[in-house]
Amino acid sequence: MDKKKGITLCMCRMCPSFVDCKEEIAFCMAEPGTSGCIKKEQGCLCPGCPVQAAENFRHVFYCTRGSEAGQSHDR
Ligand code: SF4
Ligand code: SF4
Repeated sequence: MDKKKGITLCMCRMCPSFVDCKEEIAFCMAEPGTSGCIKKEQGCLCPGCPVQAAENFRHVFYCTRGSEAGQSHDR
């Protein structure tokens, strides 16, 4: 799916780790994906997200650890 659709489906705003600094969400699809303001990992809703399922993404905490592509390269 395109990033615009990902942003509409993204569950980050309901996540306990989420901090709103008016940046674009769907961190999994962004490059590098890390948030400028979310620093503390306090749970992640990505495993239950429709974007994660549709794209077959395998990682979590995209906001603090980087996009799906970025975390995949780190392996
Ligand atoms: S997988 Fe996570 S970062 Fe990606 S769209 Fe869903 S909730 Fe947002
Ligand atoms: S990427 Fe995961 S941990 Fe970060 S805000 Fe989204 S759901 Fe929460």
